[in-house]
Amino acid sequence: MQRIYIETYGCQQNEADSEKILGMALEMGYEKTDNKEDADLIIVNTCAVREHAELKALSNTGQLKHIKEKNPSLLIGVCGCMIQQEHRKEDIKMKYPYVDFVFGTNMLDRFPQIMKEVKSRKKRSFFVESYDVNKGEIKEGIPVARAFDHSALVSIMYGCNNFCTYCVVPYVRGRERSRKPECIIEEVRDLAAKGYKEIMLLGQNVNSYGKDIENGINFAELLRRLCKVEGDFVLKFMTSHPKDATHELIDVMAENKKVERHFHLPLQSGSDRILKIMNRRYTRDAFYSLTEYMKEKIPGISITTDIIVGFPGETEEDFADTLDMMKRIRFDGVFSFVYSKRKGTPAAVMEDQISDEVKKERMGRLLSLQTEIQTEKNREYVGKTIRALVEGESKSNPNRLSARSKEGKLIHFDRFNGSDELVGKFVDIKITSAEAIMLLGEVIK
Ligand code: SAH
Ligand code: SF4
Repeated sequence: MQRIYIETYGCQQNEADSEKILGMALEMGYEKTDNKEDADLIIVNTCAVREHAELKALSNTGQLKHIKEKNPSLLIGVCGCMIQQEHRKEDIKMKYPYVDFVFGTNMLDRFPQIMKEVKSRKKRSFFVESYDVNKGEIKEGIPVARAFDHSALVSIMYGCNNFCTYCVVPYVRGRERSRKPECIIEEVRDLAAKGYKEIMLLGQNVNSYGKDIENGINFAELLRRLCKVEGDFVLKFMTSHPKDATHELIDVMAENKKVERHFHLPLQSGSDRILKIMNRRYTRDAFYSLTEYMKEKIPGISITTDIIVGFPGETEEDFADTLDMMKRIRFDGVFSFVYSKRKGTPAAVMEDQISDEVKKERMGRLLSLQTEIQTEKNREYVGKTIRALVEGESKSNPNRLSARSKEGKLIHFDRFNGSDELVGKFVDIKITSAEAIMLLGEVIK
């Protein structure tokens, strides 16, 4: 039996792609292994969104050299967003001779043929096509080997049309392509029937869903239809672009218990001047009113965001505007990133790049403000009982289990006799204390 090991970097879209690669590999007769040293085939699924992610994938690919020396028949393949960039594909070609093949993000469905060719050619192969050549039609019916049996990822669309000036995604994932609603509904129906409790709908900008399909339905309508699928499960989605997030979508969330009580809405910057240069196409006021509408329609909703610190030209005043938005909106969570230059994007060649010292100093201030806000917000849960899906052992403490509420809150509780049987089930948890990143509670039996 041949064994496959897959290493995945980056976002949930990459996680979902790896589940498909594994699904196809299992059908080809491979067996999954969690030990690289044991593998006959290693796939590294890379991310390109920040330099750090690329460097990590490259350095870990570098470490595979020793495994290949011990096992010369091992095949190593690199895929994902990083190698969709010409200069990174060349890096692999020139500096990583022990990588046998690379394949692009729009070649995923051809994985079985790629493997056949790699094995018969017996020479290094580079299967990367630009998105202009291949429009990247969506192939349905690819087998998926899901990483969990209670929580599933479902891509509803691929690519992005927005070209935010800092971002590499539109270049490495191509233009927006939506899956047909009936295919998505069928997949969700099947997952619900199998007992999945949490279904995450994925897209770079889910609010553009359907715009590329003739007579297509919009995202709010898709969500409405998915809520009608029978079963006890929570529907989640990621990510919403503020310029396209509609009141209709928020209304659908408010009316349907199946949808999470959480909205991830990336702000990126609180300064109108910077938002404009980022090509985000909304203002801080528009963003603020959207969050106000959410809070009014869905009491108790949790709102999280992404913020980039140190975008080119960001002044102290611009940064103060970002902190001000954080204070006004009081996000439940902020994923903050230091701006990272991405080759080929407009922002990479903008003047006034911000020094590392300034970026670091601003990031420190942002984090301490958010920790304060988050702790205060989380404390409001103490004494309340909330429903949550038990996910498994806590990553930080093996004596605890972790659970996730509909608000997206991470809750830990002590393991007790029989508690492990709760994994994959919904439970009611009474919150006893709160920290910035999580809540602690007791399961109400
Ligand atoms: N499509 C999603 C985000 C995809 S990338 C959206 O529009 O929200 C995830 C996050 O990475 C972005 O929200 C942004 O905050 C961050 N990011 C993207 N490019 C970046 C860069 N060049 N430097 C730092 N952070 C970046
Ligand atoms: Fe990148 Fe902007 Fe597209 Fe998100 S919307 S993937 S940040 S270009």
